Amino acid sequence: MQTRNLQLKTIISICLILLLGQVSLQALAGIFRMTEQQEIRVGAQAAAQVEKKNRILSNPYIEKIGQQLVAKSGRPNIQYRFRVVDSKEINAFALPGGFIYINRGLIQAADTENELVGVMAHEIGHVVAKHSVNQMERSSKAQLGLTLAQLALSRSRGGATIFNGAQMLTQGVFLKFSRDQERQADRLGAENMHSAGWNAKGLVTFFEKLAKKGQGNTAFFSSHPSPSERVRNVSDLTQSWGGDGVVNTNDFNMVKAKLAEM
Ligand SMILES: [Zn+2]
Repeated sequence: MQTRNLQLKTIISICLILLLGQVSLQALAGIFRMTEQQEIRVGAQAAAQVEKKNRILSNPYIEKIGQQLVAKSGRPNIQYRFRVVDSKEINAFALPGGFIYINRGLIQAADTENELVGVMAHEIGHVVAKHSVNQMERSSKAQLGLTLAQLALSRSRGGATIFNGAQMLTQGVFLKFSRDQERQADRLGAENMHSAGWNAKGLVTFFEKLAKKGQGNTAFFSSHPSPSERVRNVSDLTQSWGGDGVVNTNDFNMVKAKLAEM
């Protein structure tokens, strides 16, 4: 229903603007506001794609600590889901609407639960700050000019262009986040894990270790600020927090051992 409304609104707005001869991208920007429902629907579709292409391991331990973090996050009202991707690559990612994936390789690269939780909290930070939604809205605005040109062209040729605003919104779903968004996710993640009882220094030690191992260019870092900058930012933020937080748990060690056998 909302999709149809969006399409209708979009078409009417574009017709009006073409009619008035005043094509203003600013005027059209308001059309590309994504609702929470739309965000979750797009996330679920993207998650289905990811799960079709990869072997997914559902893991009660990862789900449990994920939900503990969510409860203390800035956006606990939506249903999050945490899954393990059977891949050796050190990576993790968040899709819109709270679908979060952690690679097996990342869990194995973590030496403490704090390090693993740091990465998970970072991914939750992207969902809390609605970074995917921002990316999708931005990318649809960028495509708008092109579509308007196509519309004008097809009109002059007497043809018809089907304009689908909802489809346009979803096209930015797999775009990389900006470095500023990554910095914000680090900050939100550190705050989240701290308030949920873990030691946010886990985020720092994880970055330091990967940088030292020369793994600063793994997938997880390719779109992020350099590990050394992230270490500095999170260290500055957490300096006064103190406290030990959770260091290691039996569950963490058991899950790591189990994954190592695969
Ligand atoms: Zn990130």
